[in-house]
Order: sequence, then C-alpha cells, then structure tokens
Amino acid sequence: MCGIYGYVGYTATNETLLGIKKLEYRGYDSAGIAFYNNSFKLNDNIKNFTNNIKTFKNGFNIIKEEGEINKLEKIFNCLNPKSGIAIGHTRWATHGKPSVENAHPHYSENGNWIVVHNGIIENYLELKNTLTGTKFSSCTDTEVVAMLLSKHFNGNVMETIIKVCSMLIGSYALAIIYAPDPNKIYVAKLNSPCVVGYGKNFGVVCSDLNAVTKAEKLFVLNNHNFAV
Ligand code: GLU
Repeated sequence: MCGIYGYVGYTATNETLLGIKKLEYRGYDSAGIAFYNNSFKLNDNIKNFTNNIKTFKNGFNIIKEEGEINKLEKIFNCLNPKSGIAIGHTRWATHGKPSVENAHPHYSENGNWIVVHNGIIENYLELKNTLTGTKFSSCTDTEVVAMLLSKHFNGNVMETIIKVCSMLIGSYALAIIYAPDPNKIYVAKLNSPCVVGYGKNFGVVCSDLNAVTKAEKLFVLNNHNFAV
C-alpha cells in the first residue's frame, strides 16, 4: 500500500510528480503518471522510451518506471508534457512483481478507464474469471478494476464506479479517469486512506493528508465515500 496523487488544474503533470515525490518516504518499488495531452504522441523523443510509455487515441498517455521516482522524473524532464489533469502512483507490489508492466496507472483495453489504486482487491481472481476474453497487460489486482469498469459501464460514470466498487472485497483508495470526460478525477475509498480537496483553480486527491500542502478545503474520506 503506497501512494496516490491526482490533480486537476494548470501544470497538473508537474504537480502530480511533486505530489508522488512527497509520498516517497512511505517506500515504493515503481511509479507512474497518466495525463491528458492530445499532441504528446507527436513528440519525437517518445521513441526513446517505448517500454515506459503508452499513448491512447483518446488523448491520454501513461509514463511508468520501475525503481526510483528520479528515473520517472528524468523521462518527464526529457519529454516535458503539459496537462490539465493527471493521476500518479507509487506502488508497493502486492499482486505481481515490481516491474514497468505492473506499475500503475492501469487501464481498460480501449484506454477509456484509467486507474491508480492503493490497497488490495482480495477477490480479484474471482472477478478476473468473469472477464473472459479480456486481454490483460499486468498481473495486478488493480487492472481487474479498470476492466470491470469498462465491462459494466452503463453510460453513467459515477453509477458504474459505485456498482463496480460494490463487487470489490478488500481495501482501496482509487483515483479513476474516464477518458471521454477528461476533466474529472473520480475517487472511491474503502479501508485505505484518501483525502480530496480544492483551491482556486485546482482539485486534488491524495492518499496522505500531509502531502497536500496548498488546498483551501480538504475532506478526509470515510469508507464507502465517493468523490469527483
Ligand atoms: N495491490 C496493488 C498492486 O499490487 C496496489 C499496491 C499499492 O497499494 O501500491 O499493484
């Protein structure tokens, strides 16, 4: 169980990188950030990091790296992607070895659901068995959540998240992006710490109250709370 940090507002990628760095003290084995930037795929330097980068047609992109955040930061410094929304993660592996593939954020097959997660989905194997025909790209319990969101989507993002969360046993602080609606981070919490907040022109979500420095209003979520 390590850290999540998400930010909606100008310079979201920088803020999220700074945010996950504040969570470093908790220990981690890999880190990653998803962000919206429609022209990022045109950046020529992406080809130098093909193992670390995933780009989607919907304009979202994910950069992940194993080991220290410094390594992730070097990739960000080289590519310098700007964005108004990002979710980031430091991982402490519980399901699947530490690796780039298993690092978060995870995503549904079409990239429309992007998820970072702290905690453990205890019934993930049982849930995975309901997803026959789905092509997984990691060994994590978390990826199952992204796939379930895609499978059970009924046209209403929050209803779908509430429905999928009702299937999960275990613990989670989840920050979720539904890519076709690229201005919002959805949040769910059970047995894993999570705070949300906002200030002038930004919103923030984090697993650690002390890592959120400049919000004017902060809400510590209770179990079974959801937020946008
Ligand atoms: N269970 C998830 C995984 O193994 C999340 C671990 C965490 O909280 O960092 O990827």
